[in-house]
Amino acid sequence: QAPNDLPPITLLLANPRGFCAGVDRAIQIVEQALVKYGPPVYVRHEIVHNRYVVEDLERKGAIFVEELDEIPDDARVIFSAHGVPKSVPATAEARNLFYLDATCPLVSKVHVEAERHFEAGREIVLIGHAGHPEVIGTMGQLPDGAVALIETVADAEAFEPKNPDKLAFITQTTLSVDDTASIVAVLQRRFPAIAAPHKEDICYATTNRQAAVKAMTARDGGRADALLVIGAPNSSNSMRLVEVAERAGCTRSMLVQRAGDIDWPRLAGASRVGITAGASAPEILVEEVIDAFRAHYDVTVETLSVTEENVSFKLPRALMG
Ligand code: SF4
Repeated sequence: QAPNDLPPITLLLANPRGFCAGVDRAIQIVEQALVKYGPPVYVRHEIVHNRYVVEDLERKGAIFVEELDEIPDDARVIFSAHGVPKSVPATAEARNLFYLDATCPLVSKVHVEAERHFEAGREIVLIGHAGHPEVIGTMGQLPDGAVALIETVADAEAFEPKNPDKLAFITQTTLSVDDTASIVAVLQRRFPAIAAPHKEDICYATTNRQAAVKAMTARDGGRADALLVIGAPNSSNSMRLVEVAERAGCTRSMLVQRAGDIDWPRLAGASRVGITAGASAPEILVEEVIDAFRAHYDVTVETLSVTEENVSFKLPRALMG
């Protein structure tokens, strides 16, 4: 089939999309550690939630494990971008392991907030998703029982603090901006004295990617009639992008890990397809998806930009110089 015989389609690329500064830094830490120390370098948990990234680093000599007891005594280990409970570096130190911490500085900022509230004698409410490694890491900054997890508006309505005047909330960095605002509104109505983050804990990358999806799926003008989010099912910020699109009324919103996951029949009749990528999805996968469209359609690419990002984070000192 000649390209001109293919049906036309417009791909609307979200900007910003894909890698954030925390993911970029975490991957660089693993790559530079492999160069500096030579393989193998162990990584506790997926450095970022993306199979493509993990497999690429495995080929370069990284070994991924879930817990420190899976690695030998003389090994070098890196902690993932999501952050770890305090018990993890403590165990590494007790075993004399050399470790590098790839926790995103914006997650570490939330850890510091939690500690400050604890020192001020406040009971802490963490808004987040049970079982996510960032939530496990943030709760694990403080003794058991110091942080209560709230996942929903219903949880916020039911929560009974020990002392409503000595209360603070913090959040996971990759939540839905809108859902979190609803949960915070309930907490602030019920507990007017609750201490809040100075600037919200949901990070700039999560906020910007959700804003771009909202712009792409807005009802007025230029709206995409389907949306692909490139990302992994265990990537919190990617899953939230799918939800944001669905809530905006874009019924054909799909998470795809690679081009091979695209459900072509579901896209039948779509003339404008939005494409974005979660903060842990590399741009090469966006290119792979666009190439797959070129095999099915006569593609026009447009970009919808809501903001420019220019955030970057320094590498740990051990890797500098
Ligand atoms: Fe850091 Fe946000 Fe990226 Fe998570 S999504 S690594 S908090 S910048």
